[in-house]
Amino acid sequence: MTKILSPIVADPPKAGRETSPVPPYPPFSAPTLIELPDTASSQQVVGGMDTNARMQAADWTNPNLTKSADVPAGRVIGSIIGEQAGPTLIVTCGIHGNERAGVLAAKRVLATLERRKSRLKGEIIAISGNLAGMRLGVRYQVRDLNRVWTDARVADVTARAAKPGGRAALDAEDVEQLEMLTEIRAAVARARGPVHLIDCHSTSAQGFPFILFGDTIRQRKFATAIPLPIVMGLEEHLDGVLSAYWSTQGIIAMGVEGGQHDDPGTVDNLEAVMLLGAESAGLFGAGVIIETASAYSMCERKRGDLPHVLEILSRRAITPDDEFVMEPGFANLAHVRAGRRLARDKNGEIRAPKDGFVILPLYQGQGAEGFFWGRELSPARMRLSEALRTMKVDRFLHLLPGIERTMQSKDGKGRTRLMVDTKVAGFYPRDVFHMLGFRRIRNQEAELIVERPPEQTS
Ligand SMILES: [Zn+2]
Repeated sequence: MTKILSPIVADPPKAGRETSPVPPYPPFSAPTLIELPDTASSQQVVGGMDTNARMQAADWTNPNLTKSADVPAGRVIGSIIGEQAGPTLIVTCGIHGNERAGVLAAKRVLATLERRKSRLKGEIIAISGNLAGMRLGVRYQVRDLNRVWTDARVADVTARAAKPGGRAALDAEDVEQLEMLTEIRAAVARARGPVHLIDCHSTSAQGFPFILFGDTIRQRKFATAIPLPIVMGLEEHLDGVLSAYWSTQGIIAMGVEGGQHDDPGTVDNLEAVMLLGAESAGLFGAGVIIETASAYSMCERKRGDLPHVLEILSRRAITPDDEFVMEPGFANLAHVRAGRRLARDKNGEIRAPKDGFVILPLYQGQGAEGFFWGRELSPARMRLSEALRTMKVDRFLHLLPGIERTMQSKDGKGRTRLMVDTKVAGFYPRDVFHMLGFRRIRNQEAELIVERPPEQTS
């Protein structure tokens, strides 16, 4: 079944050179896959890549780091509770301690909304992610705080902390996770409407800011109000990320990559996402907060010629033995024409099978994928898939030959998982699964496991 996951095949080596394209997003340096490798090697990869050069660079050895404006004073950066009941928006900033642009952005948004407090419904609260990491200026100390959000690990850290003397035995990121859990649960408990969450990130290389989320109808509605590029099907490739975990807890969540860590534009991008997210969540009426208009046009401008929504069709899985080398010059989201050379490995050249998009090409360090391959998800296809899901067509998928449903909790809060016999999987275009929200597709022995996040109903 590797052909399903890797439709991009290597062409035999050919003579001749191609010219590199002009990168669409200046200033441009080699983009990197910082946030998004999956599989067991991801911690090592993520940590290794982001702690190289960048962490030793002069801008991170600022002796007054702990006094910087972008280091939060405590777990709660700030909050505003409106007099009227309404939705809640939780913003998490710096879950990677070296990504602090979100803190400044949250402070700006809180100041903007404080001035219009009487117009605000519900609550907005900004929470620090890896607080100790931010104070030290490191991505994390023991483990990546954005790979620990699974049911098993949340239960484990809670149980260990509850034992006598247990808290003292917790490591740095256990403490961070526990305190985040406490604040997020408290916000959920006092919520007077649907709860939303935006998890803010930045990257070591320049690139287009973009949004990712698990493909549920409510999360689509929340996120597509923001005109930045949206990459569907990416979160599903990641294990243990905060936004995916809270989405299984009924929260409407998205993650945002705001841009390069130190770029002032990244703060602007994250501020815009928070403002537009608050509007989309319904904390205030459309147009009530005047800054949303400029936030919207700035996001549109930064998206440039990219489509609003991209979907991942496959990942180019690699191992060190493949000797994979990406062609230079691709932005983190890059439109390519059929036949364009994308990379080389020990078998020769890898060319684009058709017109499409290279997503998160690997330029630094080692990763589990060389790049993702995707295409535009048109508004018409978005509408079609929403219609199919409203009709709950997926309820009948397991009646088809070779498809079995293995996991779906009665309360609808669990992921839905199907097992597809690989002998018949070829008869079912992946498109069908994508349309219905099943974007996590993996091989397991004689079966293809396809999963989708739960539709939030509460
Ligand atoms: Zn991050």
